[in-house]
Amino acid sequence: MVPVPLRYPLDHFTVLARGLGLKKQDMPIWAMRADGVLAIDRALTLSRPSTVRILSVGGPAVDGPVHVKAVPGYPIQRIIDPRVSSRPVRIISGGVMTGSRLPDNQLGLDVECNGLTVLPERQNREFLGFLRPGYDRRSFSRCFLSSLRHGVAERLDTALRGERRPCISCVACEEVCPVSIMPHLIHKYLHQDLLEEAEWTGVKRCIGCGLCSYVCPAKIELRAQLTEACDRLRTELQTGKVTR
Ligand code: SF4
Ligand code: SF4
Repeated sequence: MVPVPLRYPLDHFTVLARGLGLKKQDMPIWAMRADGVLAIDRALTLSRPSTVRILSVGGPAVDGPVHVKAVPGYPIQRIIDPRVSSRPVRIISGGVMTGSRLPDNQLGLDVECNGLTVLPERQNREFLGFLRPGYDRRSFSRCFLSSLRHGVAERLDTALRGERRPCISCVACEEVCPVSIMPHLIHKYLHQDLLEEAEWTGVKRCIGCGLCSYVCPAKIELRAQLTEACDRLRTELQTGKVTR
């Protein structure tokens, strides 16, 4: 047993293996989450397939975070409704950093879903919101008053809190990236549709942790852009449009 510090994104197997000194160049990593181990145990000891998944259900709009057992296809609203007292909400499949918004027309759990995060949906602008000094906002760049307080409870909802802007080259995204690539540079290449240049700059090393998007003061969706670029590269390598 090796104790692992609770640091994000150490739940990502490749980063974890590298942090523990297990990852050698080009060496494949095999890993399994706890529910996979339980499924194998069930198959070996009871000779039964495991169709039930264990989901975490949490987020600021949930009255009490829980783990639930459910089969793929189970109605999502039946899981959410008894645990959410105020509406409207936004349901995320996965966690806040790496999850994706569930489409309104998706009624049942899909096979890949390992958790649901529910956020209060903020649809209106705050009255005189720009005057707020930010006692309850965490910021990497220490531009809110919350940076003077320790252990501040962050108010988490779907509000953008400010407008999107062009990159200001603060390199905060580069400082936090756990795989040491330069998201701001890749973002600029992708903005000009220079996919090969993005590949040379290491876009394929991105693990999609979302830290760059979280810290970006210009609110650029870096994670989404880099993940989409990786998907495009994969497709284009298969069809021979991009060569190594
Ligand atoms: S999502 Fe951003 S911070 Fe995370 S690995 Fe990719 S580029 Fe780096
Ligand atoms: S954090 Fe955002 S604004 Fe700063 S360099 Fe990266 S992309 Fe640009």
